[in-house]
Amino acid sequence: MRVCTSISCISMLPPVKKDRVITQLPKCFSANAALHTKEGFHPHVKAACQLQKADTVSFNVAKVIVVGDVAVGKTCLISRFCKGAFEKNYKATIGVDFEMERFEVLGVPFSLQLWDTAGQERFKCIASTYYRGAQAIIVVFDLSSVGSLAHARQWLEDAMKENDPSSVLLFLVGTKKDLSSPDLLAQIEQEAMRLSEEIKAEYWAVSAKSGDGVKDFFFRVASLTFEANVLSELERSGSRHVGDIIRITDSTETSHKPKKKPNCC
Ligand code: GDP
Ligand code: MG
Repeated sequence: MRVCTSISCISMLPPVKKDRVITQLPKCFSANAALHTKEGFHPHVKAACQLQKADTVSFNVAKVIVVGDVAVGKTCLISRFCKGAFEKNYKATIGVDFEMERFEVLGVPFSLQLWDTAGQERFKCIASTYYRGAQAIIVVFDLSSVGSLAHARQWLEDAMKENDPSSVLLFLVGTKKDLSSPDLLAQIEQEAMRLSEEIKAEYWAVSAKSGDGVKDFFFRVASLTFEANVLSELERSGSRHVGDIIRITDSTETSHKPKKKPNCC
């Protein structure tokens, strides 16, 4: 599968939908398990975007991989956000699938490449070859299944083998909130919060069925990856002076580590 990220390809895409415009940093789900609880975007990011708007057309893409046990709800989570619908009938994901969702953050075009991976053991090898170069890892578990949370750590370890721990943002997402009883939800959330603190991930609880929290969650992912990309671009350009004009480029091409051979296949 080839992913087109060139400026000519992006400019051929339709304009960003009105409901994908982000002008403020969206709130975290829980202040106790957030990557940061700042009120707004970093001032340097805001300043760079303001200059960018007045300057040349640019774009930015973040690769996001979604991992977790089979049938926890990864595909439904992505479909609910990208297609606005809930798929009741289970269709196993073969290897990997991929959706591109376009945003405008602080006036700058930005896209998330959402890589939906298979949770089944026999597809794990194929899926893991797509883990490389992620800016964010979303580890999904089922809020009505304690077992799926217990496996979250292993999923994260596998995904991290292919990535640079210092530059990747982690999210731990409990799905099927609509199915969990209040008692089970309270118990599993306590454990999930503990784990997210330990692995330095941001915790979210959502439901693809009702849509509860799904849009807020992906807006947060888009905003935090965008902010991280712009900050690292500013750092790379060797300047944090807000007066400097920077060009926000496709960081998926520059942040790739040398290709590692997968441990399997
Ligand atoms: P994946 O293997 O992790 O991609 O899981 P899927 O997204 O394919 O979902 C597995 C099953 O869980 C399907 O039958 C979905 O209809 C169901 N499911 C997914 N998300 C939810 C949710 O939020 N609520 C409920 N009640 N069911 C869900
Ligand atoms: Mg799937």
